[in-house]
Amino acid sequence: MEQKGNNIANQKLPLQGAGGARLVILGAGESGVGAAYLAQKQGYDVFVSDFGSIADNYKKQLQDWSIPFEENKHTEAEILKAVEVIKSPGIPDKAPIVKKLKEKNIPVISEIEFAGRYTNAKIIGITGSNGKTTTTSLTYHILKNADLNVGLAGNIGKSFAYQVATEEFDYYVLELSSFMLDDMYEFKADIGVLLNITPDHLDRYEYKMENYVASKFRITQNQTGADYFIYCGDDPETIKGMATRSFTAQMLPFSIEKPIKTGAYLDKDNIVINIHQPYFTMSINELALQGKHNIYNSMASGIVAKVLELRNETLRESMGNFKNIEHRLESVGKISGISFINDSKATNVNSTWYALESMTSDVILILGGVDKGNDYSMLKELVKQKVKAIVCLGKDNERIHKAFEDVVDIIVNTMSAEEAVQTSYHLATKGDTVLLSPACASFDLFKNYEDRGRQFKQAVKEL
Ligand code: ADP
Repeated sequence: MEQKGNNIANQKLPLQGAGGARLVILGAGESGVGAAYLAQKQGYDVFVSDFGSIADNYKKQLQDWSIPFEENKHTEAEILKAVEVIKSPGIPDKAPIVKKLKEKNIPVISEIEFAGRYTNAKIIGITGSNGKTTTTSLTYHILKNADLNVGLAGNIGKSFAYQVATEEFDYYVLELSSFMLDDMYEFKADIGVLLNITPDHLDRYEYKMENYVASKFRITQNQTGADYFIYCGDDPETIKGMATRSFTAQMLPFSIEKPIKTGAYLDKDNIVINIHQPYFTMSINELALQGKHNIYNSMASGIVAKVLELRNETLRESMGNFKNIEHRLESVGKISGISFINDSKATNVNSTWYALESMTSDVILILGGVDKGNDYSMLKELVKQKVKAIVCLGKDNERIHKAFEDVVDIIVNTMSAEEAVQTSYHLATKGDTVLLSPACASFDLFKNYEDRGRQFKQAVKEL
C-alpha cells in the first residue's frame, strides 16, 4: 500500500484502508456529503458537522449510509480528534472552528484535494473570476461528444468525491473556485485553465488582491513538463501574476488581441488553434456561444480539445451546437420585436461589462441588488453607447443613480422582477433588448441568482 506523499503528486495511488482513523467533514452540502461517502468507503471513521441546518435531502443520504452527523453546532471534542478535516469551500478560515484546527496543526483540505487521491483519471481543472461554469460545461460537452469517458464536477452537478466513489471515468472536467483551490496542496491538474482574474470575494482574502491572485494561480501547483497551463494572454492581472512566478507546464495562451505562437488567437473573424496539425479554425459567427467573453471561453475549451488530440470536425460540431446554460446570457425570447435576455448570473461589474459588450442593439438594462462595493465606472462608456434606460432592481439603488445619472436620462427603481420586466417593456421599442445583467448579488429581493433569473423569465412569459 502506498500513500501519496509530498512532491509525488504525479502518482495518484489510492490510500486504502484508512484503518478507522477519524476524518471530519465540516459543512454538509453537496461536496461534504459526497466526501463523507467516499471517506467511509475508504475505511475512515467519518463524522460530519454543520454549524447551520442540513438540507433534508443531504440528511437523508447521511442517514441511509449510516454516517454520523450533527447540525446547528460544532462539537469540538468530536472534531478535534480528526487526523484530517475536509472543509466546505463556503466556510472561511476565520471561522472559530477552523482557527482551532489550525492551532492544533490538524490538516484542513478541500473535498477536491481529498477525492483527487482516489482517482487516476486525467484532470482538467478550470478556474477564473468569470466564465468558469460556461467553460467547464462547454469543455465537458466537447469531450463527451468525442466519446471520451468523462465526468463533470467541482462547483457544478454531483460532487467530485461522490463520482470518484461510484464511477470509473478516464477524465474529469472540474470547475474550481478560489475557495476550493485554497485548500488544495498535492492536487494537480493535468490540464489547468485560468480564464481571467478580476477582483471578487476580496472579503475572504484580507482585502488584498495579491492573496486572491495567489489563490487562482494554485491551478498550476505541482504541474510538471508533461502538463499544460492554458491562460488568457490578454488579461492584465494574469500576465502581471505570471511575471513573478515560474511555471514548468507547457504554456498555451489564448488571445483575441494578438497572434499567438502556440495556443489560440483570432485571425479576422476566425479562431485559430495552432496545436497539433492540422490546425483548427472556426468562424466566430458559427460559435454557439456569442459575445466577446465567449470567444475567450470557446478558445480555452478548444485548446483543451486540441491538447487531447480530438478531431477538428468533432470540435467544430460541439462548439457550434452547445446549448448555453440557464441564467448566462440566456435568450428568453422576443415580444413585439423586443428581445429579453436573462444574465442573472452576472453578479459583478466585470460580467455585466461583457454582457453589455456583446449587445448589438439598444439596451434597457436591469441592474442592481446587493452591491459588494462595486466600481461602476468601468461600465460607464458602454452604458453611454448602448443603454437607453436603466431599470434598478434592488432595495437600495442610490449608488447606481449616482454612477449613471450623467450618462442615462431614464433611471427607474423597481422592487420585483415583475415590475422590472413590465417597466422595461414599456420603455423599450421594437428592435431593443431588455437585458437582466445586474452586476450585483440577489439576496435583498431573491433567494439567489437562479430565483432572480426564473422570476424574470416568468414575468416575461406573462407579458
Ligand atoms: P462563473 O462560473 O465563473 O461565475 P459563468 O460561466 O457562470 O461564470 O458566467 C457568469 C457571467 O460572467 C456570465 O453571465 C457572463 O456575463 C460573464 N462571463 C462569462 N464568461 C466570461 C469571461 N470569460 N470573461 C468575463 N465575463 C464572463
